[in-house]
Amino acid sequence: MKISIIGGGPAGLFYAYLMARENAGHDVQVYERDAEDATYGWGVVFSDVALAFVRDIAPELYASMTAGQVVHDDMAVVHGGTRVRLANNTFHRMARIDLLAALHRHCRQVGVKLHFNSRQDDPARFADSDLIVAADGANSAIRSRLAEHFQPELDERPNYLAWYGTTQLFPALSLIFRQNDDGLVIAHTYQYSADHSTFLVEVDPATFERAGLGRMSEAESLAYCEGVFAEDLQGHRLLSNNSQWFRYTIVKNRHWHWRNIVLLGDALRTGHPSVGSGTRLAMQDSIALYESCQAQPGSVPAILADFVARRQPGSDRLQQAAIKSTEWYENLGPKLHLDPVSFAYDYVTRSGRVDHAEVRRRDPELADAYERLQAGPGA
Ligand SMILES: Cc1cc2nc3c(=O)[nH]c(=O)nc-3n(C[C@H](O)[C@H](O)[C@H](O)COP(=O)(O)OP(=O)(O)OC[C@H]3O[C@@H](n4cnc5c(N)ncnc54)[C@H](O)[C@@H]3O)c2cc1C
Repeated sequence: MKISIIGGGPAGLFYAYLMARENAGHDVQVYERDAEDATYGWGVVFSDVALAFVRDIAPELYASMTAGQVVHDDMAVVHGGTRVRLANNTFHRMARIDLLAALHRHCRQVGVKLHFNSRQDDPARFADSDLIVAADGANSAIRSRLAEHFQPELDERPNYLAWYGTTQLFPALSLIFRQNDDGLVIAHTYQYSADHSTFLVEVDPATFERAGLGRMSEAESLAYCEGVFAEDLQGHRLLSNNSQWFRYTIVKNRHWHWRNIVLLGDALRTGHPSVGSGTRLAMQDSIALYESCQAQPGSVPAILADFVARRQPGSDRLQQAAIKSTEWYENLGPKLHLDPVSFAYDYVTRSGRVDHAEVRRRDPELADAYERLQAGPGA
C-alpha cells in the first residue's frame, strides 16, 4: 500500500511505524509541518493501562519510551494549603520530545520516509496514495478543508489554560488549588524528567477577567502564576515555551473518514489535558487503524469501516470521561468550602465510575479518612 500521513505527532508516527514494520513493501511517508527537533509542551503522561497497549504491540518501542522515564505511584491534591495523598495511581511520564525522537528512530529503522518542514493542507496532492491519514492535530487543516464531509463539532471550553514547565520537581502528579482575591487558580503538575516538571495552569473566566490575565503579556502572566504558586514552587521559576493562554476545544467528528482519507488522533477527537489522555488516545487510534489494515487487507473501504467499528466505542467512552472531568474543573465553586479530604474524595469520584468500594480497594487510607469525616466528630 502507498500510505501518506499528514502530521508527525504521536498518532501519525506510531501508525507509520506499525505499518512499515509489518510489511516492508508498504510505501509509508509522513509529512510534518515543523522541523525535526521542534515540539511544544513539556512532558507527556501515561497511566499503566495506557502504556500496556504500547508494550503489547510494540515492545521495542515500549523499551525506548520507558528508558529513563519517571514513574511514580501517588497523586496528590492540594486544597486549602493541605496536601492529601492519593495512593496507587501509577503514572509513567516522559518528555514529549523524547517520545517523538524514539518514534522517529523506530520509523527510520523500518523504512518510513519522514519529511520535515513539509506543511500539507491539500489531500489532492496525494491522489496516487491508497490511504491518506490526516493526523495533523486538533486544528487539522485537512479536517477544515473537508468539513462538509467529516462534519466536525468543535466545543470550546470556557476555562483558560497555559502550559508551563518548571525545575521544581513534583514526583506525585499533583493538582494544586489556590485561592486569592481574584478567585481560583489550578495547577496540574508532574515531574517528567530528572530535572523538569510540566506545570499546566487553569483559570476560570471570572478569575481570568478579575486578574486581568487577558491584558497581560506572556511574561506578566507567568509572573502572576509564579506568585499564586510561590509556596509550591519554593523559589523555582516557571518556564515558558511560547506558553500563551488558550481555551481547549473538544473535537468530535460525525464521520471519521471520507473516500480514502481518515482522521487520526487529535484531528479525530480530543480528550482534555486534565485527564492527561491525549497522547494515549492518539496512540490507541494508531493501533486500531493498524489492526484494521491487518483484518481487512486490500480493501480501503473495508479497512475504514472496520476502524470505526473497532475504535469508536472505546474512544467515545474515554472522551466522555474526559468531558466529565473537564466539567468538574469548570464547576468547582460550590465545592471549595469542602475540607481537603472531602475535596480530594470528590475529585477521585468525579467521573461517576468510581464508587466508595472502589476508593476503598484502591486507597484504603483515603476511604478511612473520608468515612471518619462522614461519621462526624467523636466517631
Ligand atoms: C498547547 C498544547 C500543549 C500540549 N502539551 C501536552 C503535554 O505536555 N502533554 C500531553 O500529554 N499532551 C499535551 N498536549 C496534548 C497532546 O499534544 C495531544 O493530545 C497528542 O499529541 C495528540 O497526538 P496527535 O499526533 O494526534 O497530534 P499532535 O501531537 O498535535 O501532532 C500533530 C502534528 O501535525 C503537525 N501538523 C499540523 N498541521 C500540519 C500540516 N498542515 N501539515 C503537516 N503537518 C502538520 C503538527 O506540527 C504536529 O506535529 C498539548 C496540547 C496543546 C494544544
